[in-house]
Amino acid sequence: MHHTKYLIIGSSHAGLSALDAIRLQDKDGSLTLVTQESCLPYSPTILPYVLSGQARPEKVFLRDQQSLDSLSIAFKPGTKIVAVEGRSRQVVLQSGEKMEYEKLLLATGAAPNRPPVQGLEAVPHHVLRTLEDALTLRSKIRKNATAVVLGAGLIGLHAAENLARGGMRVIVVEALSQVLPGYFDEEASQMIHRAFSDNGVKILLNKKVSRVKGAEGRPL
Ligand SMILES: Cc1cc2nc3c(=O)[nH]c(=O)nc-3n(C[C@H](O)[C@H](O)[C@H](O)COP(=O)(O)OP(=O)(O)OC[C@H]3O[C@@H](n4cnc5c(N)ncnc54)[C@H](O)[C@@H]3O)c2cc1C
Repeated sequence: MHHTKYLIIGSSHAGLSALDAIRLQDKDGSLTLVTQESCLPYSPTILPYVLSGQARPEKVFLRDQQSLDSLSIAFKPGTKIVAVEGRSRQVVLQSGEKMEYEKLLLATGAAPNRPPVQGLEAVPHHVLRTLEDALTLRSKIRKNATAVVLGAGLIGLHAAENLARGGMRVIVVEALSQVLPGYFDEEASQMIHRAFSDNGVKILLNKKVSRVKGAEGRPL
C-alpha cells in the first residue's frame, strides 16, 4: 500500500500553497499530491479565456512535472478519493485501492451549485469549473447561436464575455437588480453592465429563471 507522510487531496491553489509551505519546513518528508483530474495543476481563473481561445489550453498549467519532481512530490492525477478512514489514517480511491497517510489535507475546493430550475436536468447545459468543462464548452461555441448564462456573478460574466468573443449571441439572466452583486456598488455595476451591452451582451436583471425547455430536435 502507498504510504506517505503528507497527503494533499486537490492540486489547485490551496493544495499547491500547502505543498510549498510544507516544503519550506520539511524538504524530505514524503508528500503525495492527488487530484481526480487527469492533468497537471492549473488555475480555474484562466478557464474563461480558454473558451474564447485567448488562453491556449496547454498554457494554463501552474506547475510542470519537472518542478513537482524537483520538490520530490509524488503527483497522482486521475486519482479520486471516495472515502477517508480516519482511525486507520487511510483513504480509499475510486479504484478500491487504499493509501496510508500521516497528515491529511483536504484541498478539494467547491463544486458548481446547480439551481433548482424545473427541467434543467433534462436539457443539455454546462458549468465552468474544470479544464474539461472549459474545453467541452469551447467545442460547443457556434457563431451567431444564442447562449443563455444563468447568473451575472464573476464566473457568469467571465463566461458571457468569452462566449461573446467567440461570436455567440449572449443573454445573461440575473435574479438581483445589478450585475456582480456583492462585488461592486450600483454605480460601478452599471458601468460594467454598459460595457457588456456595448459589446452586444444582453443582460436581464430582476429575472429569475424558473423553467427551461430544450428546443426539440435541436441539440444544444
Ligand atoms: C471559471 C472561474 C473563474 C474564476 N476567476 C477567479 C478570479 O478571477 N479571481 C479569483 O480570485 N478567483 C477566481 N475563481 C475562484 C478560484 O478559482 C477559486 O477560489 C480557487 O480555485 C479555489 O482553490 P482551491 O484549491 O480551494 O479549490 P479548487 O480550485 O476547486 O480545486 C480543488 C481540486 O480538488 C479536486 N478534488 C475535489 N474532490 C476530489 C476528490 N474527492 N479526490 C481527488 N481530487 C478532488 C478538484 O478536482 C480540484 O482540482 C474562479 C473560479 C472559476 C471556476
